[in-house]
Amino acid sequence: MQKREELYAGKAKSVFTTDDPDYMVLEFRDDTSAFDGKRLEQLDRKGMVNNKFNAFIMQKLSEAGIPTHFEKLLSDNECLVKRLDMMPVECVVRNRAAGSLVRRLGVEEGIELNPPTFELFLKNDALGDPMVNESLVETFGWANPADLKVAKELTFKVNQVLKQMFADAGMLLVDYKLEFGLFKGEVVLGDEFSPDGCRLWDKETLRKMDKDRFRQGLGGVIEAYEEVGARLGIDFTA
Ligand code: C5P
Repeated sequence: MQKREELYAGKAKSVFTTDDPDYMVLEFRDDTSAFDGKRLEQLDRKGMVNNKFNAFIMQKLSEAGIPTHFEKLLSDNECLVKRLDMMPVECVVRNRAAGSLVRRLGVEEGIELNPPTFELFLKNDALGDPMVNESLVETFGWANPADLKVAKELTFKVNQVLKQMFADAGMLLVDYKLEFGLFKGEVVLGDEFSPDGCRLWDKETLRKMDKDRFRQGLGGVIEAYEEVGARLGIDFTA
């Protein structure tokens, strides 16, 4: 499939059209952002690591029966995906308290959340991605209620699959963010799953192995992503 023009450049990925209107190319760049894009840096190998990490996870989710936009890897930094009509909301599940939940509710970082929580945020950098709820999504037409219900069910199904997978590799899946869209009427997982969009802690030491290393200036960001990948059996040289 032929890569055509750039459709959109996000903070860490660029999206290109192809000669097939149903498919697009995602390019993972080395750019890393935090705080709604207010902090931007380039990290060596990040595009390649996240591209291959995302491919591995999307394939696992697909094998577990979760529809995803991922088709195939095209190069170190690119993959082919279905072109979705995206819902402008982020679906967040938390197994442990961290990040904005701790700031918002003043609860202790790390406490177990049982049952895991589900939150929705509107994708809007200018507004700082405000928290919204199902009622607001329906009223403002960001998604229809039936599609949102499916997205929520799929978000929890992802938890079943990935919580166990990371636990088997000695890590805690603290929380994660997913984005969904419609492909020919079906709700499909889009965007990416990488350590940029989830929190992963070492099960024994609780060492952070995700983007919080960048947000909190802890260093060793890509080294930690590579370690997560190695523990899962991802070969970044392939
Ligand atoms: O910041 P907060 O604690 O709400 O983030 C919850 C989860 O969603 C974290 O894993 C974070 O990396 C992810 N997230 C994201 N993109 C955003 C906001 C949060 O990937 N814009």
